[in-house]
Amino acid sequence: QRELLEELRGLPAETEDGRRVELSANISSAGDLAAVIKNDAESIGLFRSEFIYMGRDTLPTEEEQFKIYKLAAETMAGKRVIIRTVDIGNDKQASAFGLPKEVNPALGMRAIRVSLTRPDIFKTQLRAILRASAFGRIAIMFPLITSVWEVWKAKEILENVKTELDKNQIPYDHHLEVGIMVETPAAALISDKLAKEVDFFSIGTNDLSQYTLVVDRNIQDSSQFFNPHHPAVLKLIRMTIENAHANHIWVGICGELGADLTLTREFLEMGVDELSVAPYDILPLRKKVRSLNLSEK
Ligand code: PEP
Ligand code: MG
Repeated sequence: QRELLEELRGLPAETEDGRRVELSANISSAGDLAAVIKNDAESIGLFRSEFIYMGRDTLPTEEEQFKIYKLAAETMAGKRVIIRTVDIGNDKQASAFGLPKEVNPALGMRAIRVSLTRPDIFKTQLRAILRASAFGRIAIMFPLITSVWEVWKAKEILENVKTELDKNQIPYDHHLEVGIMVETPAAALISDKLAKEVDFFSIGTNDLSQYTLVVDRNIQDSSQFFNPHHPAVLKLIRMTIENAHANHIWVGICGELGADLTLTREFLEMGVDELSVAPYDILPLRKKVRSLNLSEK
């Protein structure tokens, strides 16, 4: 990895024929920021904020969250930091939410559904993120969207929080981008409509594969059935990228598949603008992109 770094530090992720893609990092805590810098990521494409809420009995306060998001924004010094609002539920539980036990948690109360059901908790997080946006370039992303209605509702709550901040003259970035995860077949299938509501998409291939193929992403036993290369998954990814571009917004991939070097060429040919991967996957991916020539068959 050190040799890779010496070879590639500061170089763009650009193919031989000049196709550029942004390579970003996925993180789950401020503790990961060092790895982001060390691996020369261009930005943070996914901050899994739910980890701030996990492994404790109380909800994190606005102040506590503000400090973490501010640190991320300042560390990245003007480069984009996409903070995904809590994706709690399913396999990521946090006791302070007091969510009921479900027979089918992957299909139940998780992610944006929790936030829209508990607007008090959601607003505290949005306030913390907005306040931190005054210290760098922060973007907000909503997880597990399945309908236009959810995006309207989430944006309405965001607008209410902004109005409150304005009233109290608390600074935030008024140009902050708002995006969504496209990680359900429903979202991919209506991505033409969803693209009109947001500034960007990030495709979550882990959940997109789980929900498209009807296989639990966490159950190894069924891994022979969990095939993210399945043509149905790739077709939904392609459709999402096309609909994003037809509506002039940018689109990334932040699921595990983004780091799959056997698909890098295909993703670039589909037109993906950004790939967000674990920090240690950045440099191998940059090397791969730089070795490609899309004009050659
Ligand atoms: C995904 O579903 O692909 C994703 C990036 O989100 P998470 O893995 O956190 O569910
Ligand atoms: Mg997901």
